[in-house]
Amino acid sequence: MEKVDLLVVGGGAAGMSAALAAASAGPVSVLLADRETRLGGILPQCIHHGFGLGYFRRDLTGPEYAGRIIAQMEGAAVSVRLNTTVLSLSQRRTAELSGPTGYETISFRRLILAAGCRERTIGSLPVTGTRPAGVYTAGLVQRMLNLRHWKPGRRALVLGSGDLGLIVARRLALEGCQVVGVVEQKGSCGGMVRNYRSCLMEQNIPLITKATVTRLHGEGRLTGVTLRRLDSGKEERVACDTLVTALGLIPERELLAGLGDKVPGWASLCGNCDYVHDIVDTVTTQAEELGRQVGLELLGRG
Ligand SMILES: Cc1cc2nc3c(=O)[nH]c(=O)nc-3n(C[C@H](O)[C@H](O)[C@H](O)COP(=O)(O)OP(=O)(O)OC[C@H]3O[C@@H](n4cnc5c(N)ncnc54)[C@H](O)[C@@H]3O)c2cc1C
Repeated sequence: MEKVDLLVVGGGAAGMSAALAAASAGPVSVLLADRETRLGGILPQCIHHGFGLGYFRRDLTGPEYAGRIIAQMEGAAVSVRLNTTVLSLSQRRTAELSGPTGYETISFRRLILAAGCRERTIGSLPVTGTRPAGVYTAGLVQRMLNLRHWKPGRRALVLGSGDLGLIVARRLALEGCQVVGVVEQKGSCGGMVRNYRSCLMEQNIPLITKATVTRLHGEGRLTGVTLRRLDSGKEERVACDTLVTALGLIPERELLAGLGDKVPGWASLCGNCDYVHDIVDTVTTQAEELGRQVGLELLGRG
């Protein structure tokens, strides 16, 4: 069984920054595993600007921000396994990994979980009706558009006006999709003012506040949704072939589920896996600090 001092799960901004900081503390063996075929986590699909203003003092795109950290990984004493999913952890400090060479067990002294977060789906809302194709999460739409160059549909409604919903609404509009509106249950936009201006106002996309979606229509493919006004209770049918949900993010801690109620002392969390960060700069600084501490602990200097 391969033994390492530190196993890092996740190769996004958090995992890479933690691994780099731990490795630079001194001679510790660091293994980083990510299920994707490339490093960067969510960043490669975020092709808009607005990354790195705090950390790099530059207005970068997501891929540019990732590229700067990936460049530091090259030559660093961090062993990287891509296309490798960490399937489970045990209290004996072992991890089961599945990768291109098959299934293996790794033993470690410390673990940093930097597995990011997952998106809340339409299933989290009391929405009735059929279950047609054409209902996607915002992150999936971003991935389809920016990494695969697939257009999800022709006429879309976005549910949720946080930054992710706003950015995806603009992206859809720029790709020629008619965005009939961004629906928000609260009385005002949930995202940053700068995003509201650049994503909705500049693209002439209406923000529909105090409203939600209560029903899906369509057999096979979505043909429309029922929109309910939360102040008056009035309902109307809105024609669309695509519903994009931007309902919030949930830290991804599934790997800890089998280990009891408390996070074991040998495991630490950082990045969106710890809590959902608004900006990547705080992810990087938090992960670096954690990585440094863990590196020193492993060297007996913590
Ligand atoms: C649409 C959108 C827009 C954003 N806009 C901005 C912005 O303008 N400015 C800004 O500063 N920030 C922005 N952010 C936030 C920022 O991008 C994130 O906070 C940050 O990149 C999260 O980094 P992370 O490493 O915690 O998670 P992630 O990047 O999600 O990385 C987690 C990694 O863990 C891997 N993983 C998970 N589970 C396993 C497993 N079991 N085995 C192996 N690998 C696993 C995943 O494959 C992934 O690569 C935006 C985020 C989104 C989604």
